[in-house]
Formats: sequence, C-alpha cells, structure tokens
Amino acid sequence: MSALQPARGTRDLIGEDAARHLRVVDTARRIAATYGLDEWITPVFEDTRVFARTLGETSDVVMKEMYSFQDRGGESLTLRPENTAGVCRALVSNGLTQSLPQKVFYAGPMFRYERPQKGRYRQFHQIGAELIGPAEPLADAEVIACGRDILAALGVAGETVLEINTLGDRDSRAAWRDALVAYFTAHRGALSEDSLARLERNPLRILDSKDEADRRVVAGAPLIEAHLTEAAAAFYGKLKQHLGQFGVAFVENPRIVRGLDYYGHTAFEFVTTRLGAQGTVMAGGRYDGLVEEMGGPPTPAVGWAAGVERLAMLLPETPAAPGPVAVVPVGEAAEAAALDVLAALRRAGIRAETAYRGNLKRRMERANRIGARAAIILGEAELARGVAQLKDLRSGEQQEVALADLAARLA
Ligand code: ATP
Ligand code: MG
Repeated sequence: MSALQPARGTRDLIGEDAARHLRVVDTARRIAATYGLDEWITPVFEDTRVFARTLGETSDVVMKEMYSFQDRGGESLTLRPENTAGVCRALVSNGLTQSLPQKVFYAGPMFRYERPQKGRYRQFHQIGAELIGPAEPLADAEVIACGRDILAALGVAGETVLEINTLGDRDSRAAWRDALVAYFTAHRGALSEDSLARLERNPLRILDSKDEADRRVVAGAPLIEAHLTEAAAAFYGKLKQHLGQFGVAFVENPRIVRGLDYYGHTAFEFVTTRLGAQGTVMAGGRYDGLVEEMGGPPTPAVGWAAGVERLAMLLPETPAAPGPVAVVPVGEAAEAAALDVLAALRRAGIRAETAYRGNLKRRMERANRIGARAAIILGEAELARGVAQLKDLRSGEQQEVALADLAARLA
C-alpha cells in the first residue's frame, strides 16, 4: 500500500519546526498579556454566514478561498479563514457588547484554499489582537505597539518595517472611491480580469492586487490624502503622534488598504523583504463597522493578525534546549529504584528520561544519543548506601551524590 501524504497545503510540525512555531505563539501570548489582552478560544468552524456577511460577498477570501461544506444536518459551515469575524460573533453571542472594552488575543489554525507556496499554505496559523470598544486613535497606536513588541521579543523587529496608512472616515472614503472608480475606468484596458470584477464591486481591492499589470496602473492611482475630511486627518495625526510616544518607528505607505467596507481610518502592515512575495507578516486596521454587521450595536474596534509560519521562518536559530538527565539503572533492583529517582527529578521540574531496557553500555550509548547533559548511574551496592554516581556527560566528570541531593544538584 502506498504511504499517505499530508493534504496539499498542510504541514506537519515536528522537531525544530514545532519549536519555532511554539516560540512564536508563546512569545506573542506573553507580550499580549502585558497589554492586558485576554485570550479567547473560538470555534475553528462557524456558520458560513459569519464570514459571508462580514468578509463581504465580494472579497477575494470569500469568493475563492473558503473551505465551506454542508454537515450531515444540512448546515452550511466554513472552516475559519481568519478570526476577527469569529471574535466579533462571539462578542455578540456572549452578550459582551455592553461590557467594553474587550481586549482579545487569539492563536490558532486558519484555512484558505490557496495555491500553496513558501509562506502560503491551506492550513496556516495566526496570532491576533483585537481592541474592541475604544474609538480613540490611542487604541490603534497601542495595538500596533503590542505587535511591534512581539516582533522585538522574537528578535525579528529589525527584519521588518511598519507601514501605515489611513482609509479615512466614511465621507473621505466615498469621495476617494469615486476618484478611484473614475481613474480605473479610464485605465480599464490595462487591468486584469480579476480587477475588472473588483472595479464593479470593490474598487479599493484593486490597490491590493498582486498582478504585475494592475500594479503599474495602481502606481498612478489617486491617493486618499486629497479626500480626507478634517476629522479623519486629525485622527491620523494623533495616531502618528502616539506611535512616536510608544517609540514605534513607521513609514507611511498610501497604497496600504484593507479591502472591506467595514474598515476605516488606520490600516497597517509589518513587512519584510526576506520572504519574497509573501512579505507581509502582520496586518491590521480599524474595523468600526464589523460588530454591527454581526448583529451587534455599532462598536469601534481595531486589531491585527500575523502569520505564525511567516514569523517562524524569520526567527533566528533556536538556542538548543538543555539536554535531559538520563537515569541509568544497573541490575533489576536498581530498575525499580530508577523510577523513584525519575519521579523525584520530574517533580523538581527537571527533564529526565530512562531507556526502557538494556545493559549499562547500551543505556549510556542511548544517553549520549539523546543529548543528555548528565547520567545518574544507579548500582545496587551504591543504592544500598543511598547514593548514586552522577556523571556530567559534557566533561566526563563523575562523582558520588546522595539520592536525596540529586534534584538540587541538577536544578
Ligand atoms: P496575502 O496578501 O499574503 O495573501 P492577506 O492579506 O490575505 O495576505 P490577511 O488576511 O491580512 O492576509 O492575514 C494576516 C496574515 O496572515 C498575513 O499577513 C500573513 O502573514 C498570514 N497569512 C495569510 N494567508 C496566509 C496563508 N495562506 N498561509 C500562511 N500565512 C498566511
Ligand atoms: Mg491572501
């Protein structure tokens, strides 16, 4: 029978891959907590309407990338392509719209039917932060600072650049949208098939196109700057001021958009040049209209999501974890005593292992193979005296230690 492979676009994380993945998630979780964020764990699949409604029937994600299916009861379900919609759905379902702000961190798998390539998978993972409730630009700055601190704690802040933009308020965006439609209509001959469809439904999305020809047209497209209302310009000014106070470096990039209608004001991305076309590691913005789309009251919110796989690829080498302690019994009576020693070491938080069989020579070979830092050799004569031989496997040094002192010596 032929061996089965993982499904296309999915990966097994084992050894170094798993270590990097966990380092990203653990670090993010720790930093997010310092910002007062609580972790929410929402379902991996949702009623399809959670995404169909909120991602907009027109977005690329909904149109082409969703894993939707009917379950045995006939419900239309979708594996979540992102988690902001799920968090907003949970906010409303759990009656939390009157208990604001809610400051949320999440981590978990997402699913998109995409063409797999380096940094782009069908099951991938995101970490994310959402500040739900505050309308002030200080919240935008704070959530961005949280993202920057996570990148810094991972040692990759130097590899990324923060690009920010404003999408203005509704009035700014309406005026800008008209200018974009006029411009793209005049250049429709040069646009890709996909972007012609976007021109009808969601012209802002064209600015985000990865198509070469589209990009040439986009280079000359009108900027929102000329269409910003006074209030929107003031909001953007405040954001930049607060970022300065948080010590967050940024560049302005007027081409950054989030293509969905409920996004406004702040849009930002942390990008790197090290991952080719998959250069965006963290992306976010303000989505004041989303909770309302989910059936809640109008609720301001701002957040971001970051790709764990892309961050894991940027990480510097994982420092080697200290090796385990190998417990090596010699003879049958010692095998029973070895279990007590193992249990005591583990209670003290020490990584300890024993081979399941073998003579002294075999067990010592195995201790070396697993990179053990020390071996505790339990001979019957020594056990009778309440001691063991502790051998440092790096230096080769060996000494007699009382059983009761082992954990303290190895801690
Ligand atoms: P891209 O432009 O690369 O397709 P996106 O705009 O679709 O990204 P978002 O929906 O903003 O991405 O998701 C936030 C982050 O999640 C991205 O910046 C990226 O790091 C990561 N991400 C998105 N899609 C994938 C994927 N298929 N595989 C791995 N990571 C992904
Ligand atoms: Mg995408």
